[in-house]
Amino acid sequence: MITLGLESAVVPVTGAASGIGLAIAERLRSEGATPLLIDVDESGLRDAAERVYGADSNPRYTYPVDVSDSSAVDACLAEIGVDHGPISHAVASAGILGPSDALGLTDEVWHRVMDVNLNGAMYFCRGAARQLADRGRGGSIVTISSLGGLAARENRVSYVASKAALINLTRAFALDLGHLGIRVNSVAPGLVDTPIQSNNQDRFRELAETVPLRRIGTPDDVAKVVMFLLSDLAGYVTGETVVVDGGLVARYR
Ligand code: NAD
Repeated sequence: MITLGLESAVVPVTGAASGIGLAIAERLRSEGATPLLIDVDESGLRDAAERVYGADSNPRYTYPVDVSDSSAVDACLAEIGVDHGPISHAVASAGILGPSDALGLTDEVWHRVMDVNLNGAMYFCRGAARQLADRGRGGSIVTISSLGGLAARENRVSYVASKAALINLTRAFALDLGHLGIRVNSVAPGLVDTPIQSNNQDRFRELAETVPLRRIGTPDDVAKVVMFLLSDLAGYVTGETVVVDGGLVARYR
């Protein structure tokens, strides 16, 4: 029998108030792990904690943090260590879209998207890696990148640049942390039905027809692959980016 073996895992998850991050937290909880929910959206966090843990809010499971604030991320990870003991895994899912084309792109949009999607992921992965290194028993970190990091899309200059950089950041972390038994991988979703895509419902219906599996992805489609990468089933996988897109990109490769 194959089991994931995540029962005693302590796993901070950013972007856990919504969409893919929330689905990952729910999956982790159903495996018996302790996901710690980090997000900038405080009320969303409260609702998410109720979905994941029910009425049980003691000890603390929610950590309101803007991941673009380096010291706040470090403080949050330190608090988690005090509240729940050393972490064993980590998932960086927080992200924003910041739509803009090349001509209209403002400095403000560019910097905000980089601050959240790239810098925020780096602060979090670096902090998590330091804790895992101190613990000295290996570990697994997963970043949520995007198909947009592997192939560009119109009207998404800063987003696709941030996700491409995140994919290579993931590889670089994997190289530097491999000797400690810490694996670092990325999952690159295609089109997934979450609030980040809320303005996109009509386009979604059209696009579903272009996906080889003929449907838009669910957050849980992504979460299940993240579970695999976190688990020892992926014990010899590091520096990899796993595309979860219903076959969308296969057509163009
Ligand atoms: P979502 O909007 O449902 O969730 C994103 C979460 O990140 C939200 O809860 C939001 O509050 C949080 N967040 C945003 N900025 C933050 C900050 N500064 N600090 C802390 N938390 C912050 O969207 P989602 O689809 O679940 O996105 C999750 C990840 O998946 C993102 O990195 C996104 O780029 C990536 N992704 C999504 C799709 C898709 O089609 N939905 C496709 C490819 C990649």
